[in-house]
Amino acid sequence: DKPLAGQRALITGGSSGIGAAIARAMAEAGARVAVNHLSAPEAAHSVVDAILANGGKALAIQADVSQAAQVKAMFQKVIQTWGSLDILVTNAGIQDDAPFTEMTLSQWEKVLAVNLTGQFLCAQEAVKSFLHRGIVPELSSAAGKIICISSVHDIIPWSERVNYAASKGGLLMFMKSLAQEVAHQKIRVNAISPGAIRTAINRAAWETPDAEAALLKLIPYERIGETLDIARAAVWLASDASDYVIGTTLYVDGGMTLY
Ligand code: NAD
Repeated sequence: DKPLAGQRALITGGSSGIGAAIARAMAEAGARVAVNHLSAPEAAHSVVDAILANGGKALAIQADVSQAAQVKAMFQKVIQTWGSLDILVTNAGIQDDAPFTEMTLSQWEKVLAVNLTGQFLCAQEAVKSFLHRGIVPELSSAAGKIICISSVHDIIPWSERVNYAASKGGLLMFMKSLAQEVAHQKIRVNAISPGAIRTAINRAAWETPDAEAALLKLIPYERIGETLDIARAAVWLASDASDYVIGTTLYVDGGMTLY
């Protein structure tokens, strides 16, 4: 049996990188998948088309996760289409780096708006929908699952990226506090903190041989992560195999956080 059979998942920032890999993996695991994108309809539709071609079910949905009205409309649309939602993956995230004294207020606010407020807005709509629906025993032992995509920089400091590190550090305590608050309602909230994964967001870190060699020195397992490494962890955290896992952060980082 497929681990996510009958489940309905929404993945924010699902048109690229880690989000797209999670969408594909969850669909392969039997879930119907809503692929959120900010302004990349073609990329989102190509993720959806690949899932449909594979015999899965998926839809693309535009929304800026930092805008409350757009988030509400997105959840309404998904719930109208599929009846309800079982899994939310808050994956949308951005970086906007600068040395500290050059970082503008707008760079600071923009990163927090997407990486932290965006998670708050989406998680709130998801929890409301889970509570409205209640526990459906034949679907899953949990009434709903939320997986926040954080970063190893939720515990490792990162120079010239104080906005990003603050957003991910904040996300960690947001996730744990929310997990504690809603666990008795049988909602499971957890996070995945990726290490260095080969996607567009961190291209500079691995795109030249020198940069890649420097990066590998930070990773005990001596390989750069692939999006599938994160996607597999997300499928597990969304499935009943992890039913007793609450408020934890899974570091999927080749050991990066061990140094
Ligand atoms: P990515 O840039 O491919 O993915 C980020 C996605 O979020 C993009 O599709 C982007 O369009 C979307 N997005 C940005 N702002 C949005 C908004 N306001 N509303 C909706 N969508 C929006 O990079 P990625 O590496 O796949 O990043 C996914 C997540 O993984 C991010 O939260 C990132 O911080 C985290 N992460 C990545 C790495 C890595 O090494 N790649 C490491 C740690 C954490």
